[in-house]
Amino acid sequence: MRIILFGPPGVGKGTQAKLLTEEFNSAHISTGDLLREAVKNMTPLGKKAKEYMDAGNLVPDEVMIGLIEEVLKSEKAQRSFILDGFPRTVAQAKALDRMFEKMGIALDAVISLRVEHDEVIRRLGNRRMCRTCGRIYNLDQLNGDMDRCKNCGGELYHRDDDKPETVRHRLDVYLNQTKPLKDFYRQTGRFIQIDGMQEIGYVHKQILDIIYKNRNHH
Ligand code: AMP
Repeated sequence: MRIILFGPPGVGKGTQAKLLTEEFNSAHISTGDLLREAVKNMTPLGKKAKEYMDAGNLVPDEVMIGLIEEVLKSEKAQRSFILDGFPRTVAQAKALDRMFEKMGIALDAVISLRVEHDEVIRRLGNRRMCRTCGRIYNLDQLNGDMDRCKNCGGELYHRDDDKPETVRHRLDVYLNQTKPLKDFYRQTGRFIQIDGMQEIGYVHKQILDIIYKNRNHH
């Protein structure tokens, strides 16, 4: 199974990708997670990406395309994968199409999650991420027990780019550079839109319904 999760920041791509990964034992390919790891380890990639990420801008296409090509060639991505946060520009989507063609594989679905912008600002203001394993939490969910990741005991932190000023800019970047991709994928016929304002379990169930319906068609 090969799926793209698409949508603005804070819509729940990461959360849904993790649920799907558990369900299908797929590789979760989050370019944001890969970049944050590179920044943490101060690799050449991390050094290139940091400035863009801090400002809430997109990392240049050629850097991202090189990164994703490497990941798709790796062992863990051979059977099935969930792409979370890639592609984010039409140039990235076109490059991805070419890679798939070369590798002889096809996408099963592009699942687009929708959310209102006020809700994005609220959600990202409340979002906490584990520094070690990348697991995502919401302050509402943590009930005062705010310090440690339930999964691995790692430290929870508020991403700098989740502060309201940067979130507003990330939403602009989404509208200008990423949203146009919807039309690109609508033309392929595997584009499905889901309401991301719903509760996590409900959104997950809707995604599963679509995946199974698609499977029965092929
Ligand atoms: P995310 O965790 O998906 O919100 O990504 C965090 C940041 O990483 C973004 O704001 C961008 O600066 C960068 N990033 C992640 N994926 C991409 C991509 N496909 N293209 C360009 N920049 C990206």
